[in-house]
Amino acid sequence: MDSQSNSPHVLIFPFPVQGHVSCMLKLAELLCLSGLSVTFLNSDIIHRRLLRYTDVVSRFSRYPGFRFETISDGLPPDHPRSGNRVVDIFDSIKMVTKPMFREILLPGGCLNSGKRPPISSVIADGIMCFTIDVAKEMGIPIYLFRTVSASCFWAFYCIPKLIESGDLPIKEDDEMDRLLNEVTGMEKYLRLRDLPSFCRASDLSDRAFQVVTTETQETYRANGLILNTFEDLEESALAQIRKHIPNLYSIGPLHANLKSRLEAKLTSPPRSSNSLWEEDRTCMTWLDEQAQKSVIYVSFGSMTMLSRDELIELWYGLVNSRKNFLWVVRPNSVAGDGQNIPAQLLEGTLERGYMVRWAPQEEVLAHPAVGGFLTHSGWNSTLESIVAAVPMVCWPYYADQQVNSRLVGEVWKLGFDMKDICDRIVIEKIIKELMDTKRDELMRPVERMMKMARRSVTKDGTSYSNLNRLIEDIKTSKK
Ligand code: UDP
Repeated sequence: MDSQSNSPHVLIFPFPVQGHVSCMLKLAELLCLSGLSVTFLNSDIIHRRLLRYTDVVSRFSRYPGFRFETISDGLPPDHPRSGNRVVDIFDSIKMVTKPMFREILLPGGCLNSGKRPPISSVIADGIMCFTIDVAKEMGIPIYLFRTVSASCFWAFYCIPKLIESGDLPIKEDDEMDRLLNEVTGMEKYLRLRDLPSFCRASDLSDRAFQVVTTETQETYRANGLILNTFEDLEESALAQIRKHIPNLYSIGPLHANLKSRLEAKLTSPPRSSNSLWEEDRTCMTWLDEQAQKSVIYVSFGSMTMLSRDELIELWYGLVNSRKNFLWVVRPNSVAGDGQNIPAQLLEGTLERGYMVRWAPQEEVLAHPAVGGFLTHSGWNSTLESIVAAVPMVCWPYYADQQVNSRLVGEVWKLGFDMKDICDRIVIEKIIKELMDTKRDELMRPVERMMKMARRSVTKDGTSYSNLNRLIEDIKTSKK
């Protein structure tokens, strides 16, 4: 073995969906920047798409200690891997991928073949806790990375208490606006309606509900928990989690943390994209032609499936608001319609709107023409909007988004929460408030939070120092 044999070598293993892969790649790059060797374990299918739509391989080629490896997610290639079917990925990974993962991590397996330093730490997606068993068996320290907000993680953590108190499962005649006492620290604002969508299952044996509940409870078995958030944003939830999982690293917003470290090292850092769809950059030219803060950007992330009725309500709400809009309609994201966007909408859009299938979102949000974001409240999108100081209209779809949108609307006051409502009149009214009548009162907290987010990743910031602590812990942790 070469002279590097004792140098730290981290294995990063994300759950194979866009939001998880993208931010764990950012973490990988941050670790590479600090001189660590990193192997990034992608599912075959995600890796093929990354190669097809991004320059990720050449981008990472500047880090000699970095390499990709791939593994099967166990599903057939034509599986949709989105919407409600995401739980299938989880099941097949546990059944098919887990034994493969163990095999490649064993001495002589492709992750520990002797050509590179042996894996000295694992950072695995926190919804794949089987990785703890495998890492422990090999005597390798393991950290879990959760891509959800700290508040959502905490709500997941409290599910056993919610079951014990009788709050869950939700009954048909339950008052959805009832406040909950069991999610400590959030009693003043978290309603039944704001619990993660999986809690709406009428039956506690629902697979997605079981997965998030059991995986979250297992977290304490890892050496530490990494969250993509910052102290000023989620101080209270982080304090609650630390009572149970003391070794917690809040290192977000990751995209801002990475940007700040790249800018410190390179004079002009390259544009980076981890997109699994082809980015349509024509929308940037369209934005260049629009007035400052005049455009509402509409995107519901990588997993949301819209019904045709929802698409039409959203479209009327947008058009009737008489605001210009840039709308991402992902391929195959509208149920029951091969072409996705009915021709009647496309024609009607010409006057005020621009539609793309996938956008360079971070750049879009940073564009001076963008004045608002109609979002599904995915956690990455929420953080990207905060850093860009763009107020939000939240229309949460599933998972953590119900919690995030409540925080945005009620706690942080960074926008409005349209939870469970998709009605053209409401959408029109809220967009007008966001862009015009309530704009000034919204922009004060939006700008304040943007400053705190950006400060957290500067040299004196909490996310900056928490990342350094993680790097030190990785460097000093022994197999
Ligand atoms: N995204 C993008 N272009 C788009 C839509 C989304 O680059 O047109 C990115 C977005 O910047 C974010 C990620 O996809 O980083 C979506 O993650 P999020 O957690 O918001 O939602 P999810 O897709 O996991 O539901």
